Amino acid sequence: MSHPYEDELRVGLAVVRSAARICQVVQSAITPEVLDKKDNSPVTVADFASQAVICHGLSQSFPADPIIAEEDSMALHQEENEGFLREIHALINAHYQTATQNEICDWIDRGGSKEFAPRQWTLDPIDGTKGFLRKEQYAISLALIIDGQLKVGILGCPNLGTTNDSGDSLYYAVAGVGAFATQLNESAEVRQIHVTKTTDSTAARFCESYESGHSSHNESAQIASQLGITASPVRIDSQAKYALVAGGEADIYLRLPAKTGYFEKIWDHAGGVLIVQEAGGTVSDLQGKPLDFSKGRELRENRGVIVTNGALHATILAAAQAVTAASQAGG
Ligand code: AMP
Ligand code: MG
Repeated sequence: MSHPYEDELRVGLAVVRSAARICQVVQSAITPEVLDKKDNSPVTVADFASQAVICHGLSQSFPADPIIAEEDSMALHQEENEGFLREIHALINAHYQTATQNEICDWIDRGGSKEFAPRQWTLDPIDGTKGFLRKEQYAISLALIIDGQLKVGILGCPNLGTTNDSGDSLYYAVAGVGAFATQLNESAEVRQIHVTKTTDSTAARFCESYESGHSSHNESAQIASQLGITASPVRIDSQAKYALVAGGEADIYLRLPAKTGYFEKIWDHAGGVLIVQEAGGTVSDLQGKPLDFSKGRELRENRGVIVTNGALHATILAAAQAVTAASQAGG
């Protein structure tokens, strides 16, 4: 189908596939090397290599486009991380193209845009690094945002094909065109995807973060019990949760604030949100407002994220509001 973002989609899919190959090589290593960031979250050589490849590929085709990405090269310039940078360099040279260490750091820092721009990309080179390290789910998430509106969303989920029913590991959407699933392997078929039609909340299947520090498991359990949901939650890392809802393998994804003062990052949602919306689902915050991608790096206008097949949205939102309000009142 022809649409205004054919070039962006083609380039975006190609760079996510290139990055995914490197992530797969690193994940299959016995123990990938890890650095601890300032916020104590882990980052691996694959996070940096993935960001380098994607930012470089986007810059070749769209040199003027700003990119808001999760990582920067600062830590790589410290002497104690020399070996870490050497490993990233070796990965890029073996699995992407010849480049110097300095060039690779520059590619990574192409993702250093901080402010809102009328046309911008956002990238999480490995969303769910903790899942990546457990050799479980992670996602490479890329989105194009124009005037604060999501236009193209891509999620590479290299391990999802081994656990979902469809075998798909690459999900994408274009605004107004639809949501699609295929595999990282370029010759695989592409199919359009749709959310479920579930209207009975007792039969709903929901997913949430594996990490209870990222979304309150306690509150989601209360919501499930209020609604009579009997199935246990599917706990997986990363935006693979959006892919499960978009592909009809789950009806609901709940992200309930676990810490006060934390703002969600745009790269943790942009790709997944468009894919769910184009598959017919609904995404809002806990007040029922759409996520606002026009505020720079963070979703400063939103708290919590509720993702559903649409049909269940009003019911789930009301239950989530009741439970989170009660736990706030209770301190
Ligand atoms: P998930 O895989 O769904 O647990 O989400 C992983 C993402 O959670 C990471 O990319 C972080 O950016 C983000 N994150 C880190 N701390 C928090 C927090 N307190 N609340 C919500 N998300 C967080
Ligand atoms: Mg992330």
